Amino acid sequence: MAQRSSDCVFCGIVAGTIPSTQVRETDRTLAFRDVSPQAPVHVLVVPKDHYADVAEVVAAAPHLLRLLLEECVAVARDEGIADDGYRIALNTGEQGGQAVAHCHAHVLGGRQMAGQLG
Ligand code: AMP
Repeated sequence: MAQRSSDCVFCGIVAGTIPSTQVRETDRTLAFRDVSPQAPVHVLVVPKDHYADVAEVVAAAPHLLRLLLEECVAVARDEGIADDGYRIALNTGEQGGQAVAHCHAHVLGGRQMAGQLG
């Protein structure tokens, strides 16, 4: 199982040493509001264990990906955007626009998303 990384901001949020606005929690995942929201609803869903990106999760703990996506769907429901629609994004690696090297899914909604990604 991946260990928490002391220099990872999302591990700090999971540990409670870095503040966040949490919206949901399970034994394996945490959902909290993005500090720089790009939409009226912008929540990040992370595994509590440290995996650098979604590829690491798929390789090491594929069942966790299902839990992560289930939590994204639950966030959308709780935030009231499920009916209108929303976007789930898993930026991966430098050219994928991933700035924080701890796997995270963005749940974005509350406005019309652009037709093109990026
Ligand atoms: P990405 O570019 O996919 O790695 O997205 C990283 C996201 O993490 C960005 O949308 C940031 O605004 C967000 N972020 C970075 N630090 C924090 C923090 N301390 N609390 C909440 N969101 C954060």
